[in-house]
This record gives sequence, structure tokens and C-alpha cells, in this order.
Amino acid sequence: RPTNLNPLITDLAGLDLITDANQIAKLSQDYYTFSPVLQPLLADKTGDLVVRPVNEAEVLKVAAACVKFKVPLTVRGAGTGNYGQCVPLEGGVILDMTRMNAIHWVKPGLACVEPGLKMAAMDKQTRETGWEVRMAPSTYRTATIGGFIGGGSGGIGSVTYGQLRDRGNLQAVRVVTMEDQPRVIELRGDDVYKVAHAYGTNGIITELEIPLAPVYPWAEVIVTFSDFMTAARFGLALSNSDGLIKKLVCGCAAPIPTYFAALRSYIPDGAHCVLLMIAESSLEPLGELIKEFGGTIGYQKTAQEASKGITLAEYSWNHTTLHARSVDSSLTYLQTLLPDDNLALLEHLYHHFKDEVMLHLEFLRVAGSARPAALQVVRYTTEERLNQIIAYHESKGAFIFNPHTYILEDGGMKAIDIEQLKFKEMVDPYGLLNPGKMRAWLERSRL
Ligand code: FAD
Repeated sequence: RPTNLNPLITDLAGLDLITDANQIAKLSQDYYTFSPVLQPLLADKTGDLVVRPVNEAEVLKVAAACVKFKVPLTVRGAGTGNYGQCVPLEGGVILDMTRMNAIHWVKPGLACVEPGLKMAAMDKQTRETGWEVRMAPSTYRTATIGGFIGGGSGGIGSVTYGQLRDRGNLQAVRVVTMEDQPRVIELRGDDVYKVAHAYGTNGIITELEIPLAPVYPWAEVIVTFSDFMTAARFGLALSNSDGLIKKLVCGCAAPIPTYFAALRSYIPDGAHCVLLMIAESSLEPLGELIKEFGGTIGYQKTAQEASKGITLAEYSWNHTTLHARSVDSSLTYLQTLLPDDNLALLEHLYHHFKDEVMLHLEFLRVAGSARPAALQVVRYTTEERLNQIIAYHESKGAFIFNPHTYILEDGGMKAIDIEQLKFKEMVDPYGLLNPGKMRAWLERSRL
């Protein structure tokens, strides 16, 4: 790790710098604490200096100084990632992007924004023009759009629009490079995937064009079922109902609802629930579908009512794990994509693991039809047992996106992305961006 940062600090005179050790330590951490495997690996990792740029020119200046003195640089949005994506393994500069939060323009279906913009703030402003964010993580109140593109995958809205990696959900990015003379590169079309979901290892994003969706008033509904597989079938049927306009279909097997303190009175003991965000205009046909599957409405709120107090969005996606862990901090989680829309494997896993792996489903659109993904809440005992659980899922054909590793490829598609590696060789020849996270770079001499 860098020894003397004084020359670098001198080069950055006039920029917003944080040198207080406590503040630096806080700005070096994220939510990897959901993983008992990552906790001991990352707890003591900190940067040496935080810089908070206000525009692209300042980002270029920081990049140039880091290259000149060969100091690692780790980009940070709001630090809500779950895999230690923005935790610096080798110290150096933390580049906090939250002061770059402007919206440059909004057109029908598209917005151009700076990366440090919080997603809720972006949504609020674009909604005034009749357009909203297509998908957002359940951390949308604090998470930045740059962090979502750099480290996220999908969320509320993915039941209709798929995931970030689906073509069309990210239009363009501008990135600052870490070459001897840093420059700005604009990537459009499929080239955006050279930096999207690269954990900030492939350039510093300074501007993004984000596709939007038409605004609807989103009603919120809890539907309960006495049988989990009926709840799952209902969730899949709703997600595949093209005529019903929806934003969230989240299914939780008992006893997960018992972790939702504020919702408990609406969900009978032992019941399984499906949490929904649905266009108000689709409530009537939704009633017919609920009847068809024998569900019971636990509560139903109009968009206006849902905008006050609790929102079901903050019980979905990884907020489900957050609520469970706030009751029992020994719980952890997994992320799984089930192979097709046939629920037989899901049923098998439900009976096989029982309460040890509690099923939490998020329905997503994958290549044109709905599929259940699972963010199972897991009763953790040992790392060995966790790995057995993962291996069992994989042996049955379920794909695990392992949230217990900070290595980019191991948590994702498990394959080396040669395009990303080639791009990194060009834009970050000294390997200074978020070092230690990209396997392709670490093992490039063997490739
Ligand atoms: P950070 O954590 O600060 O950064 C994430 C990654 O992006 C880091 O590797 C960082 O280096 C990189 N990065 C940040 N800014 C830039 C930039 N300008 N240029 C280049 N790289 C950059 N994720 C989901 O996808 N869906 C969910 O529904 C979801 N739910 C969550 C619920 C909870 C309770 C928690 C704790 C996390 C959840 N997450 C989810 C993970 C995370 O909140 C989101 O991915 C979020 O969008 C990350 O944004 P951030 O600003 O906090 O990014």
C-alpha cells in the first residue's frame, strides 16, 4: 500500500479531501457484513485518503495524480454494495462520487445524469416529466446510479424490464481512464458492458444515459397463501400476465414474514406472502387472478397511501435479508437463478432444505418470459455447510450468483470476460483501479 501520500495531496490542493482516519474508515466499508465469509476478510481494510470531486475535470486531476504516484484508486457511490465491491484491498484513494449528482437532461424515455445521483432523487425528478427509473435496487433511497451500474444487477422493475445486463437498459457511459495521460472515453451500444458491472476496475464513470419507463401510480398489495407452492405459482402467473402492469412480484415463504415487524398484523401466522407493486389500473384484473389461485388480500394501498409510511419495496430484494438479519444477525443469504419457469426444482429445494434455506423469490423477466430468482435467507452454521448448500443447488441445475466473494467473476457469471480484460489493459495499464477484485487481471499472465 502507498507509504507517503503527501506529494499526491499537494497535487490535489483545492479539491474536497477527507484525511480524518475515522471518516476514511467509514467511507471504506459497505454491506459485505451480510456475509459471514466476507466479514473477517474485509473488516480491517481502509483507504488512506478520500477525495470528493465535483466535476469531470476534478476526476481527471485525481486520476492523473494517482497514476503519477502509482496510488490505488477505489470508486465509491453510497457504499451499499453487498460484496465489498468498494472496499479498498490495498489502501490508496477512495473516490467518493456523491457530489457529482446533477441531471443533465431528461427526454421521453431517456435521462443523462451524473453518477453520484441518488436513485430516489433521480426518480423523483424524472417522474415530473412522465418518466421513471425502469429498475432500482431496494436501497434506491441512498444508492447512487453510478454504484448501481458499477456493482448492482437489477431490482424493483426487473419483473418487467429484466436486468441491467439486458441490452437496452443502459444507453451510454463516459469514463475517465487511468493512463499516463488520463482521458475521457464515451461508450455506447454493447461497448457499455466493458465498464458496467466491473466494480470500478475499468474506468471511472462520470456520466450515464439511462433509459426510462412511463410513470404509473403504483398500488401496493400483500397477498397471502396457506401453501407456498401456490404462492410461487401465483407469482409466476402474475409475472407472465402481459396485460397486468407490475413493478414488483416478491414471494416469501414462512417463516420469513415473521421478520417483517411492521407487516406482521397483515400476514396470518404460518402464511406465505407475495408482495406486489402493481399499476392502480390493473387492480381489478389482479383481483381475478388472486381469486383463481385462492389467495387472500392482506392489505391493499393506493399509490397515494403507499407514498406515506412504509413501502413494500423496502421489504423486497435484499431488504428481505436486512429485516431477517435485524432480528437474527446469524442469518445470511444466497442469490440463485432457477433454470426455467418449471417450478419443480423450486419445490424440491423447498422440501429438501426446509427452514435452513428459507425461500424468498423475486420474479424477473429473462429473455422475454418470467422466471423466479431466489434470494434465500440461510441459517448459517459454517462456511463448509454454506458451500455444500451452494454445491447442491448447482448440482441440480440452479445458477448461484455467490454473494460470499469479492472477486467480480466468482460472484457473477464465473467466466473471464476477455472484452473487459482487454479494455482494462488499455484504460488502467498499472492496475490501480480497485486492485484485487478482477480475476482476469490477476491471472492475465496465464490467459
Ligand atoms: P457502491 O456500493 O458505492 O459501489 C458499487 C460498485 O460500483 C463498487 O465496485 C464501486 O467501485 C463501483 N462504482 C461506484 N460508482 C462508480 C463510478 N462512478 N464509476 C465506476 N464504478 C463505480 N443491488 C441490486 O442490484 N438490487 C437490489 O435490489 C439490491 N438490494 C439491496 C438491499 C440491501 C439492503 C443492500 C444492503 C444492498 C442491496 N443491493 C442491491 C446492493 C446495492 O445496494 C446496489 O447494487 C446499489 O445500487 C449500489 O449503489 P451504491 O451507490 O451504494 O454503490
